[in-house]
Formats: sequence, structure tokens, C-alpha cells
Amino acid sequence: MSQISVQNVSKSWGATPAVGNVSFEAAVASLVVLLGPSGCGKSTTLRLIAGLEQVSSGRILIGGNDVTALPPAQRRIAMVFQSYALFPHLTVAENILFGLRVRKVPAADRTCRLARVGLETLLARKPSQLSGGQQQRVALGRAIIAETPVCLMDEPLSNLDAQLRAEMRREIRALQQKLGITMVYVTHDQSEAMSMADQVILMRDGRVEQAAPPDALYARPATTFAARFIGTPPMNILPAAPDKGGLLFGVRPEDVTLGDVGIPVRVQSSEFLGADTVVTCAYGNHTLAARVPGKAGFAAGDAIHARWRGEHVHVFDAASGARRDDIRAPAADDTIGLVQSFA
Ligand code: ADP
Repeated sequence: MSQISVQNVSKSWGATPAVGNVSFEAAVASLVVLLGPSGCGKSTTLRLIAGLEQVSSGRILIGGNDVTALPPAQRRIAMVFQSYALFPHLTVAENILFGLRVRKVPAADRTCRLARVGLETLLARKPSQLSGGQQQRVALGRAIIAETPVCLMDEPLSNLDAQLRAEMRREIRALQQKLGITMVYVTHDQSEAMSMADQVILMRDGRVEQAAPPDALYARPATTFAARFIGTPPMNILPAAPDKGGLLFGVRPEDVTLGDVGIPVRVQSSEFLGADTVVTCAYGNHTLAARVPGKAGFAAGDAIHARWRGEHVHVFDAASGARRDDIRAPAADDTIGLVQSFA
């Protein structure tokens, strides 16, 4: 069952369209990530669900009710933003309980809910006595304690350092699953989306480019845009040989093997990352990145060979960028033939 249903929603600012005909569903107790580059309409979509902005056209249902015309307070949602927006003069406990007090929730109930949020050691402190990560935990606690069925988050972790971000991702995901909250989470960070989401809505220029679970988005990107947005380094996309006219083919760096066999390439750079090494090679006028396990012993200028398996090749239409599943992934040798004439 859908907890949130976004139906053909559009939003323009004056004559400028920000969101165009966006539709998607969020199943009960699922985590849906709105992903895409800056300016693609993620925040606007979230704010439309929250009721902070009015749709230009389309409908939004929450829990089966049409909320399109309702103000935010009547939509039964909680929200967490990038800025924590804590009251500096209130303690952590007072900050978390603020909304419940306003809504006149009885004291016994408040105490009970506060215990469920955790954060015991921080409750007496003021926001100025907290680290960024702790402040965001308090902001999360304030959203969670409302016990609304829906929680909307707009880039909540972007102010935190990488290590804390990874930790908080796991915390948010665990909390969302434990409490059975339906969450819509905005981020431009594909690794955040991949690690947290049940369903990713990849947006581009105000539209939905692809909606799919993370594994499907990775394995079968619908367009070259989706192919390159997911994965680091991005998928290599090369023109196919002229006799396969109008096609592009893609291969992920982690599917490329470097050695003595395959198409001839020249190493441009080698970046050791610990668990693996990203080797960037020149292939004719093209660049081909490979992600190989461990520390690769290649140096700039080395003449080596690259190959990959036919089953790892993604074929796209050159004009539209759309995936072409009607074309069978060629066998390994054919794949090399596909590119050979471009060397
Ligand atoms: P994202 O969250 O993906 O970065 P936004 O939803 O914030 O993108 O913005 C989508 C587009 O709408 C952008 O071109 C942005 O400049 C524009 N936009 C957002 N909010 C407003 C606003 N209040 N007034 C005018 N234009 C806006």
C-alpha cells in the first residue's frame, strides 16, 4: 500500500518550470530517496509533499487522503532540514518536546516518548554545547517524537563530515525501519541514496529520469544520465563502432580488467584508494577508467590492455540516451570489436 502518492505534480515559479509531471509512490514504512544534481527539483518536490509550496497542477495523497489543498499542519508529517533550527535558549529535552507541548500532549505521554528517542546523556544540554552530529540527532529526535507516519528529510547530513555522515545514514535507516516510518529523503549524494533507499527517484531537470530500487538502478540504468550518475567513477560510455551506428555502450570501471589481453590503452593516472585503485587510461581520443582490486602496479605512460565481459556491457541509443535492451549484450570478443575502430 502507498503511504504517499505523488500524481502528475508540476510546479512553476512564474513562467519557469521547477518540477514537471512528477509521479511516484512511497510504500508504507519504506524509505524513498529523491536523488539528482543540484537544481533538478528535489527540494521543491519535497516541499510540495510537505505543503510548504502549492502545486501548479497534479495531486498528492498521504495515507490515501488527498492533501493537495491542506496546509502543512494538517498533513501529519514531520520534517528535518539541513539546518538543525534548534532553539538556542532551550535544552535538548525542551527542544525535542516543544512540538508536543504546543499540541498539549499530556506530560506522562511526553516522558514516555522522550525515552523512546534515546539521547539521555544530552537532554540537559543547550544546543551550543553539542557537536554538529549531536545537533542533527536532536533535530531527528524532534521529528521522530512527533510519531507521524511520514517523515520528510532535506539533505539532513550535508553539514557533517564524511565519517559522521556514514554513521548517521545507518542510524536514520535503522530508526526508520524500527519505527515503521515512511520517509522521503532528499540528497544529491548517490552513495547516500544507494545505501539507504528502498526506492530511488532519480530526477533531472524537474523530471523523473528513473525510479527503481538501488540494485536495479545500478544494474540496469535506463539512460546514459542514470548510468553515469550512479557509481564512482562514473560508467565509461563510448561510441560503438560505425557499423553499429547510433549506439553507445557503457561499461562500469569495476567491470574492466587490465592486463595483457584486450584493447590497447595507455595509462594516464593511477589513484590508490586502499581497497582498490582507480586507473584512468587513454583509448584513442577516449578516456577509460578501471577500478581494480588492491594496489595496481601501473604507472602513467604504461601501454597495457583492457577488457570486460559481454554481460557487463550496457547499450544505449546515441540520440536519446535511452537504454536499448532489445540489443543483446555482445560477447566479449564482439565487445572489443565494437570499440576497436575508435582506437
Ligand atoms: P534541488 O533541490 O534539486 O537542488 P530545487 O527544487 O531547490 O532543486 O530547485 C529547482 C529549480 O527551481 C531550480 O532551478 C531553482 O532555482 C528553482 N527554485 C527553487 N525555489 C524557488 C523559488 N522559491 N523561487 C524561484 N525559483 C525557485
